[in-house]
Amino acid sequence: TVRTRFAPSPTGLLHIGGVRTALFSWAHARKHDGVFVLRIEDTDLERSTPESVQAILDGMHWVGLDYDEGPFYQMQRMDRYKAVIGQMLQSGEAYYCYCSKEELETMRAEQEARGEKPRYDRRWRPEDGKTLPTPPADVKPVVRFRNPIDGVVAWDDQVKGRIEISNTELDDLIIARPDGTPTYNFCVVVDDWDMQITHVIRGDDHVNNTPRQINIFKALGATLPLFAHLPMIHNDQGQKLSKRRDAVSVVDYDKAGFLPEALLNYLARLGWGHGDDEFFTLAQFVEWFDLKDVSPSPSRFDREKLLWLNAQHIKAAEPARLAERVQQFLADKGVDTSTGPDLAAVCTLLKDRSQTLVEMADQAEYFYRALVPTTEIVEKHLGPEDEARLGLFAEGAATLAEWDQPTLSQYIKDFVKAQGVKMPLVGMPLRAKVLGTTSTPSVDAVLALLGRDEVLKRLAA
Ligand code: GLU
Repeated sequence: TVRTRFAPSPTGLLHIGGVRTALFSWAHARKHDGVFVLRIEDTDLERSTPESVQAILDGMHWVGLDYDEGPFYQMQRMDRYKAVIGQMLQSGEAYYCYCSKEELETMRAEQEARGEKPRYDRRWRPEDGKTLPTPPADVKPVVRFRNPIDGVVAWDDQVKGRIEISNTELDDLIIARPDGTPTYNFCVVVDDWDMQITHVIRGDDHVNNTPRQINIFKALGATLPLFAHLPMIHNDQGQKLSKRRDAVSVVDYDKAGFLPEALLNYLARLGWGHGDDEFFTLAQFVEWFDLKDVSPSPSRFDREKLLWLNAQHIKAAEPARLAERVQQFLADKGVDTSTGPDLAAVCTLLKDRSQTLVEMADQAEYFYRALVPTTEIVEKHLGPEDEARLGLFAEGAATLAEWDQPTLSQYIKDFVKAQGVKMPLVGMPLRAKVLGTTSTPSVDAVLALLGRDEVLKRLAA
């Protein structure tokens, strides 16, 4: 069975780079009827927060990437890591190192002075026939992994192709700190081993960790997973997306009125493509997705393209679902939608004219309360002549036998003709007076939805 995982560190909000990683990992599992695991890598006690864990869980829920196992928390697995470290010490795959900080600094300074690359000189590494120093009483040792001294570590990265690193490049990695707590690269290996992960799909900022992790896998006698390192996402300046510089948190996109399926559709296209297909569903993505089609080069985040896709997904979405979110946006602005036209019907009318749900809510507002027209609109469309004409319009409107779009459409046409003016001379003042804005869908549709009483009330105001 294919088993993949998403393993975020809870040190901030769930950001879109993480979502893209999660999406590809999830899709690979779904495509192969596999298992998708969520693992929270919370061992960095200084940077991990419960709020961030919650943000990750909420974010995953919002985008709709469901996991089959987890969330697992590394902090709850400490005993397991320590047990494995104990076994490795016993088998000789790991050893205690009593070097103090000062000693390591001296070591480094000397190496640098000789023009060598600084590295741990393995002074505490047991070897046949080697006498080790006597452990100092006042130093708590770290545990180091006994990395192979020669040969290469190689793997066929599912995205980047074959990668080979010489073992001479790799230090004997510290796997437990002086207080006994395991270190990051070690926990990841034990987890991927225990969770029987078959495909490690993650950002290529981790590619340097992979050779070290592979050596640990081998030392543990574990089956190696396949690795797929996804290219980074850059902003429009060609810089790596950053939490500080760019809007990257999933919550930001929710707040800005994006649909999760639009964000996923957009992220799917970053570093992966299916011919010229731009707009697709998650189900189509799963069907088409193949790790081998992921491009190894970084991709650029393009907000305009995301907006375009969002508009497409808004058009395709169920109005009732749009209404739920739009209702919240309106409530945030203090607009009460409990009376007035059915919000789902309003959303249907606005679907083709909104790039985001925030835009949709802005337009939906005038269905629930007339906006105050700008002076520009008043000057342009609500002069004395316009007001007089609107008065006549209201009189006729009050007597219409029906109040629906066809009736209103006919009535407006007849009225325009009778007045001997062009359509905009009626349509624009009508919008300005009743809605407070002139950029709206066709006026007959808006008036029909608004209802006769409300329209007449607003015309009389
Ligand atoms: N916790 C790591 C991160 O958030 C991911 C580690 C992994 O996928 O192996 O970047």
